[in-house]
Amino acid sequence: MELLVDLHTHTLSSGHAYSTITENAQAAARKGIKLMGMTDHGPSMPGAPHLYHFGNLSILPEEISGVKLLPGVEANITNYEGELDVPLYYLAKLKLVLVGLHEICYPGGNSEQNTQAYINAMENPYTDMMVHPGRTYFEMDLERIAHASALLNIPVEINNSSLSTITDKSGALENCRFIAHYMAKYKGPVILGSDAHFWDRVGEFGEALELVREAGISQHQILNTSPERVLDYLAMRRKNRPVIDLLSPKSKQSIAYKVV
Ligand SMILES: [Zn+2]
Ligand SMILES: [Zn+2]
Repeated sequence: MELLVDLHTHTLSSGHAYSTITENAQAAARKGIKLMGMTDHGPSMPGAPHLYHFGNLSILPEEISGVKLLPGVEANITNYEGELDVPLYYLAKLKLVLVGLHEICYPGGNSEQNTQAYINAMENPYTDMMVHPGRTYFEMDLERIAHASALLNIPVEINNSSLSTITDKSGALENCRFIAHYMAKYKGPVILGSDAHFWDRVGEFGEALELVREAGISQHQILNTSPERVLDYLAMRRKNRPVIDLLSPKSKQSIAYKVV
């Protein structure tokens, strides 16, 4: 299976990542990646950029070293309602909105609270894709998440970094096996992300691919086999967003879309 898109990469701007966007794009080009997400952490992560970083991404070229860029964010879920740490005003400007749970940015709860927070964030029309549900920090009902992903048609990530770099590999592997198994069962859309925090990891999917094969996830479930599929999906998401007055002071201050 050829993966031509890496939707999840970090630059120096994340605070605990160590390469520039140019270094990441050059590494992606060498690995045959055609489309790359630039998804630095949302502002509630210590060391992450100020919101102005996300407001100015349109100055970047459309491509670097032949790799098309999707300037975006990895937004943090901040509470049990599934609200995000990036206001709509900024989310609306981005070409890619990844959403996940991170320590420090989220209070932590029981499995029901964490699962509901994750699914609420999935229902946010400004969310494009959900990342690393397999991390072991927060217990979640992974079957419900896979089911919701299929119902809502929101891709869920098999995160290569969870399997290759974090210290608690056994727990992460077990969780990632579970989610991969349920993604195969419910047939929702899947993405594989490197979650690279240094250029040498961009476009690395080895461990995640192994898991996908083992779980029997079919190739046509995987979005990042084709840049066109990813771009069509993102265009469709934007077309289906509700019309909101993003310039009103109220919406500028609102932290996230409330699910009604
Ligand atoms: Zn990070
Ligand atoms: Zn993350």
